[in-house]
Amino acid sequence: MSNVNYDIIIIGAGTAGMTAAIYGVRSGKSVLLIEEKIYGGQIINTPEVANYPGIESISGTSFATNLYNQVKSLGAEYINAKVSGIKDCGNRKEVITNDNRYVSHAVIIATGSKNRTLGIPKEKELIGKGVSYCATCDGMFFKNRDVAVVGGGNTALEDALFLSNYCHKVYLIHRRNAFRGERHLEEGLKEKDNVEFVLDSIIESINGEKQLESIRVKNTAQNLYSEIPVSGLFIAVGQAPDTQIFSNVVELDEYGYIMAGEDCTTSCEGIFAAGDCRTKTVRQLTTAASDGAIASLGACSYVDTNNK
Ligand code: NAP
Repeated sequence: MSNVNYDIIIIGAGTAGMTAAIYGVRSGKSVLLIEEKIYGGQIINTPEVANYPGIESISGTSFATNLYNQVKSLGAEYINAKVSGIKDCGNRKEVITNDNRYVSHAVIIATGSKNRTLGIPKEKELIGKGVSYCATCDGMFFKNRDVAVVGGGNTALEDALFLSNYCHKVYLIHRRNAFRGERHLEEGLKEKDNVEFVLDSIIESINGEKQLESIRVKNTAQNLYSEIPVSGLFIAVGQAPDTQIFSNVVELDEYGYIMAGEDCTTSCEGIFAAGDCRTKTVRQLTTAASDGAIASLGACSYVDTNNK
């Protein structure tokens, strides 16, 4: 039987997970933060954050780096590893990774969500060859070229605005005739000469062998097809949670989000869920940070109560 190594293990170093680490360490707990890829989560894909209270404007990458530096300077332990599951042994939880097993009293799951795909042929094949899920990361490769963005939420609208600053032409393709994203973003796009809205439209196919060359689009209202030559296609059709590996220990809803209320407690005592991976109506940077604080203070209280 392994000894308990940490008071709290946090899975996922996005805004929720890193905020949880700050609150855990500052409450005097030993904290291990495990991240599969790079710290920061979704926010590193956002060119500009301008809706976080107290910060007028900051790039997503700078925001994440500041948060990470804060976590490290406070003394939280941070490792890169892929978690494959959690074993619940009462007030002792085992977090299993590809090459190790870590034991704590409480666990906070803050694994966020990942990009949804269109699920059409060649989408996967042409990733890195014209197809991208991150305008901030890949946009500059398409300077002075024609590109398309698909989606109608804030991400798609922000991506289109961002790309319009240096791409020759940006087609914004949305399956309905009204956007879901914020009105001021839509208004900003309407003022751009190089942005064209392609509404009531879906992408039927992606064409090109070694490199993306064009997309075939169907206007569903008029039942018309068109071929749009583009070098880049930015897919921004929302996210889905990455939680299936936890389904043996916590309850998930029909979409895969971890069932947890505003107190971030889950169906398993001692396991908390914070940020975009849990059931909630508003998924924002502010609510991720809020969840991180709430989950962490809940975990601290659980550790204090159950391990005297
Ligand atoms: P989202 O709000 O869920 O929007 C996804 C969009 O993709 C919707 O317009 C949806 O169409 C469309 N879509 C979904 N599946 C599709 C498919 N298979 N084919 C074509 N279109 C499809 O996702 P998001 O824009 O990534 O935003 C996620 C959350 O983060 C939101 O709460 C958003 O407000 C927030 N966010 C905030 C900021 C900010 O505050 N600065 C920035 C980015 C994101 P329908 O509209 O028809 O459903």
